[in-house]
Amino acid sequence: MFRHFRDNLMAKLLKQPFSTEDELCLYLISYTILIFFAVIHSFFLIAYLLQGVLFFVLLNGGSLLVSLVVWLCLSKKCYQVGGFLIALEVNLYAGISAYVCGIGSYILGYFLLIILMLTLFPYGSTRFRRVMVLLILGVIAFLGVRAAHAVPLIILAEPFGHSMTLVNLSIMLLGTLLEIAVNTLVQRIIFRIREGRLMELSSQIYTDPLTGLFNRRYQDIYLKTLKNPDQPVCVAILDIDDFKRINDTYGHPCGDEILIFLSDFLKNNLRKTDKIFRWGGEEFLIIMEQVTLANAKAVMDKLRAKLAEAEIITKQKGTLGITITVGVAPFDWANPEASIEASDKKLYIGKRRGKNQVV
Ligand code: GH3
Ligand code: MG
Ligand code: MG
Repeated sequence: MFRHFRDNLMAKLLKQPFSTEDELCLYLISYTILIFFAVIHSFFLIAYLLQGVLFFVLLNGGSLLVSLVVWLCLSKKCYQVGGFLIALEVNLYAGISAYVCGIGSYILGYFLLIILMLTLFPYGSTRFRRVMVLLILGVIAFLGVRAAHAVPLIILAEPFGHSMTLVNLSIMLLGTLLEIAVNTLVQRIIFRIREGRLMELSSQIYTDPLTGLFNRRYQDIYLKTLKNPDQPVCVAILDIDDFKRINDTYGHPCGDEILIFLSDFLKNNLRKTDKIFRWGGEEFLIIMEQVTLANAKAVMDKLRAKLAEAEIITKQKGTLGITITVGVAPFDWANPEASIEASDKKLYIGKRRGKNQVV
């Protein structure tokens, strides 16, 4: 159940548009602490009200007002200010309580919760947080030394006082666990975000931005992954005929549209297992597995004929048509580059023989 809740939360947080990882971290921890903070002060308020300890009723009422202000800050995405207010309030509350009642109820532990919060989460710069931690340590030392000499101004009736000590210890334990849990969750989310970015980047490295096809960089990697020399594999190089003239007549953007059309045409008319690469400007390399040379030639010829008949509707210049010339060669397992060269040579034979054909 916990895992389900965590995964759901992670999925939701991954969809939120946080501008930085720190912002995500502060969002999560600030709201968690705010809820924890409001629940505890409401509980204290009721407990002191029932015991008739007016001083602490007012103090907790004040704390609840602060949580309202913090909530407003968080809803305006001012996480740093919200976090600072919470830290300040907890320090004041613990400081005043320790000043008034002494430190017998482990009240100083609340300072440690704030030190943990400042250590784990990016509330302000590192220097700012270091100064805050030093200040808190100073206050702890002062209250500790003072408590050794001063008589408490308010003494809670027993067994209420004893129960509050246990409550304080439980809150500190729970607060510590909560901070560690949020920190772990944040680290996981950040890991997922970075992993996603890395995947996106690596897919960008291996694809051509115009057509979305694999590029030459991936072609080299793919050739090395080809295994099983017993299967027939064929290599085809396909080149658009007179593409320079198309560019010169209709403009470069129109040429780009044709390149995109042809890429989609190839994807839609070849098998899923055929790998298509943008090899050069208007040249495409196709690697077909489990195909004999005769079959590969037939497939390419069907493709060529279909394309010659196709009407390309461009945004720029209306309906246009193109033809292609293709060179096909069997894959050379011992020397993959040689098979690419062989199909390239055949392509040029096709160009010389009059284009719009498969060699
Ligand atoms: P052939 O039939 O012999 O292949 O003639 P061709 O005009 O197609 O060949 P050539 O190599 O002379 O010209 C290729 C043209 O492709 C030249 C270049 O401007 C164009 N080209 C290359 N990359 C792109 C691109 O990304 N977009 C556009 N629009 N044109 C491109
Ligand atoms: Mg060409
Ligand atoms: Mg060319």
